[in-house]
Amino acid sequence: MHVLVLGGTTEARRLAADLAARPGVRVTTSLAGRVARPAALEGDVRVGGFGGAEGLAAWLREQEADAVVDATHPFAATISEHAVLAAAATGVPSVMLRRPGWLPEPGDRWHDAASLAEAAALLPGLGRRVFLTTGRLGLAAFADTRAVPGLAELHFLVRSVEPPDPPLPRHTEVLLDRGPYTVEGETTLLREHRVDVLVTKDSGGTATAAKLTAARALSVPVVIVRRPPPPAGATVLPDQASVLSHLARGLGLGPA
Ligand code: NAP
Repeated sequence: MHVLVLGGTTEARRLAADLAARPGVRVTTSLAGRVARPAALEGDVRVGGFGGAEGLAAWLREQEADAVVDATHPFAATISEHAVLAAAATGVPSVMLRRPGWLPEPGDRWHDAASLAEAAALLPGLGRRVFLTTGRLGLAAFADTRAVPGLAELHFLVRSVEPPDPPLPRHTEVLLDRGPYTVEGETTLLREHRVDVLVTKDSGGTATAAKLTAARALSVPVVIVRRPPPPAGATVLPDQASVLSHLARGLGLGPA
């Protein structure tokens, strides 16, 4: 059995390791190629776009794939859409592993935003020293002082795995780092940089959740950019165990 895992997440890496350890299973993880030195992966790895949904469908046919698991990041909406379209075109079953989003707890001061632009518009009313953890792409929304003049006054601490792409906000300090993070470390970071507002995507999962606990303890407001909905027709499962049971039921995936 050949399983294509659309990757770029911790969940995808763990799933590939589980599948690769099963006799008779070949697993290929596909990465977009955004990160220069991705974490090591079990099984085969391919890197780079497929060339749209048609390209992905062609790959599935050529490589005689039996199943696709879309384990990409909850904000990677285009590849998820392509996975559903390519599965429909080829008849190769697909399933989406989508970790649940974060939920507020007592003491949280969360503000929902539907987009990065909406998050940027909220900031001048919330603080002056921003900790921006939305990734290296899309930061232009926080540099757009024509849309939100108050942004020019704010100081941004931007944390990303790779250096962010310009345009960046006028007052920007970049911190290159990769999770997982600890509550202690995040609390120290918020204190040392005198952060008074945090911006995050609703990525879910545990690897980057410590900042939310630290913000709660320090009563720092958090702007949460909500996720795009999953594509229509996708079978969405919340974790590795449910994906493996789904593959066992539908495709006869054997035990580890
Ligand atoms: P996206 O907007 O959904 O995808 C844009 C294009 O990149 C796709 O059309 C596809 O190109 C290619 N692509 C994306 N993921 C791919 C994969 N796993 N394998 C091969 N090609 C892929 O995705 P994105 O938001 O730029 O994210 C890119 C990758 O980074 C994803 O794999 C995701 O898991 C990971 N990631 C994203 C975020 C985030 O916040 N968005 C955070 C952490 C990790 P073609 O159309 O040419 O096939």
